[in-house]
Amino acid sequence: MSKIVECCVCKTNTTTNTVETDEGTIAVCHECADDAKKNFIFVCVQCGGVFKRDKEEAELRWGGKDESNPIVMGLKKLKDQQVIIGISSCIECPEVAAEEEEIGHA
Ligand SMILES: [Zn+2]
Ligand SMILES: [Zn+2]
Repeated sequence: MSKIVECCVCKTNTTTNTVETDEGTIAVCHECADDAKKNFIFVCVQCGGVFKRDKEEAELRWGGKDESNPIVMGLKKLKDQQVIIGISSCIECPEVAAEEEEIGHA
């Protein structure tokens, strides 16, 4: 039996649903899982930050309208799939921010 945990994305709902990512297992409630079909959802495993990017917007931005572009083809394949990506750190991570500040002072 899986245990009930807080959703890593909305941090409001509880769920037993989890997804495996490169950075580990992430708990995702059904509402957020549904949202992940329309948006790419990035979850920072270090600080818990959540970033969303609209799939259609990403398609235009990364690949343009060219149907033969491998990025566009890849994104089209992911369109109706639930996409949740674990990232090891993000721009909001306290550690990264501190490092940047150090560079700024040097
Ligand atoms: Zn959720
Ligand atoms: Zn982070």
